[in-house]
Amino acid sequence: MPALPEYKTRILLENHGVPLIPAVFYDVMPDILPEPAVFLKAQIPGATSRAGRGLVRRASTKEEISNGLKELLAEKNCQGVLAAEAADIKKEYYAACLLDFGNEENLPGGVLLFSPEGGTGIEGRTGSLLKIHFSLLNPPSVQDIGNELPDVPHAYELADFLQKMISTFIGYKLTVLETNPIALLAGGSHVAVDCRAEFEKHAVSKKNAYLFKVPESSVNDSTPLEKMVEAINAADPAGTGFFRASREKTPEGTITVATNLCGGGGKMLWEMATGGRDDIFSLNESDTSGGLSGFKSYRILRVIMSQPEAQVLILTGSGMAFQNQFHLASAVWKALRESPTPLPSLLRFGGTDQDKAMNLMNTVSENLPVKVKTFRPEIFPNAMVEHLEEIATDHRIKQEFIPEAGELAFEVKTPPARFVYHPEKNPEGKEPAFIKECPTGFLQWKKDRITPNPDAKCIGCLVCETLSLLEGNGELTIELGLPGEVL
Ligand code: SF4
Repeated sequence: MPALPEYKTRILLENHGVPLIPAVFYDVMPDILPEPAVFLKAQIPGATSRAGRGLVRRASTKEEISNGLKELLAEKNCQGVLAAEAADIKKEYYAACLLDFGNEENLPGGVLLFSPEGGTGIEGRTGSLLKIHFSLLNPPSVQDIGNELPDVPHAYELADFLQKMISTFIGYKLTVLETNPIALLAGGSHVAVDCRAEFEKHAVSKKNAYLFKVPESSVNDSTPLEKMVEAINAADPAGTGFFRASREKTPEGTITVATNLCGGGGKMLWEMATGGRDDIFSLNESDTSGGLSGFKSYRILRVIMSQPEAQVLILTGSGMAFQNQFHLASAVWKALRESPTPLPSLLRFGGTDQDKAMNLMNTVSENLPVKVKTFRPEIFPNAMVEHLEEIATDHRIKQEFIPEAGELAFEVKTPPARFVYHPEKNPEGKEPAFIKECPTGFLQWKKDRITPNPDAKCIGCLVCETLSLLEGNGELTIELGLPGEVL
């Protein structure tokens, strides 16, 4: 049975709302190292007992991180290394979902295995595991699972976690989904620290093939825009950035929609909203999720907006995204300002900083070249589609964006960007307020200039540029090049 490495399994879990320990995936040696302490985990499909084989190690200093990354990246069949935050864990659990072929007591379906002890050595404790059999068609509720759990702290929060695991298992038709350990953190929340999945090749749907890396065909029929997205992913591999143009001819008289769907939840809601309608045509499939940077969101949005037939853009996730929604809104705002062919947009934000995201779009919408409507996560896409007709356009706006000249302050390699400082907008040479808002401390004010902090990393969130334009004088702009021409 093919197995997915942890970094891929994390995307499946994230798409179903399972909370994960923060981690960054590196497939090459990065220029800027993550902050210690981290656990470095080699990503080798099918590898088990990684800790015993030295494929997982704790790194407490930059030197240990650097050496560990180099060594693990050189391991045979290693697809990359996950650097996961070393969290303060109060308790560990084990859980797995498996296919159950049934017996005289249970119909075929799934089985959830749970142990109130996680970590290594679970194989030797299999007899003590709690088993909850479930129907694949009618999976158990949080309440059902909570009632079965032994006496553990925060049992119903844990049941919610397990229910989302079951939803991932069923949603992707997996044969095995294991989380070991699930960590209970100091605040009472649970996160998946390590995970893996097994699947049956034939059960992978075409639209999810990119997640499982199952070749769809021996012929590479990628469109120029799809190739552009491949190049964007190669330069900025963290998180999912997926785009596939429809191969169908656009039916006459339909509203043609360019979609930016965030995660499996976003896709599912969009399909539910439009599945029975022949007056709406999705020009593309898409998925931006798994903790991608705002820089990557911007670049994928530019590709999505460049589809010549599109009349409107729709952006939605599940309503509880992992990606910070203010970072996403900053990417949307930038794409609408800079795209030569911006699209009228219906935008649904749901997740961390959703109110800040809504406020940003509402503040800037008057000065945008196209109409924009924002929606809270309580409004589902089946209500959003009722606004398509009023906002869609037959006459695409064309605009020319010329980046303002300034001083190149510095460049960042991953995620790639050029930071440009405009000293004439800061005649007194004071430290601009947005410098302190950089969430990683990467930006510093030294000798009257913006400089990068060599001990921190830029996560490509766009907060600095957004605040510079919104609350400052536009002292900083970020140039995000695209691989090749976009319409
Ligand atoms: S410099 Fe800081 S605020 Fe600006 S994009 Fe990078 S991480 Fe975000």
